[in-house]
Amino acid sequence: MTALSFHRGSIISDEASYIFEVLRELPWASSIKALKAALGMKVRKVRFKPSNRTLHLVSGVTGDHLVTDWYCSCLDFYVRVLVREERNYCYHIAAKKIAEKLNLIIENKVTDRKYPEIILKVARDDNIL
Ligand SMILES: [Zn+2]
Repeated sequence: MTALSFHRGSIISDEASYIFEVLRELPWASSIKALKAALGMKVRKVRFKPSNRTLHLVSGVTGDHLVTDWYCSCLDFYVRVLVREERNYCYHIAAKKIAEKLNLIIENKVTDRKYPEIILKVARDDNIL
């Protein structure tokens, strides 16, 4: 059963309240991108076997980004979060948080041997290499 809370004169679910809090950090356009990414199933969890190590990837306009709750490999995170300190996270991180809350994350299992290949692809997508 979904718990409800009171927000700005309305009763909303805990999920909606959480999503509102996550999106409040971002500019409007980025909020829309975050919602589209989460609802569009663009957040993936990769589980490596047999190590059980996991990574979260969010597919964006320029490719896949490596994402945690506090870090993203995208250029926007580097510029607006780390350099300019304009905000605490990018839309990819918001998408991951929303997708987790709504159980919208697809999990792929791959062998540990794929780890370097996936990291290299992310680095290329983010123009790090
Ligand atoms: Zn990002």
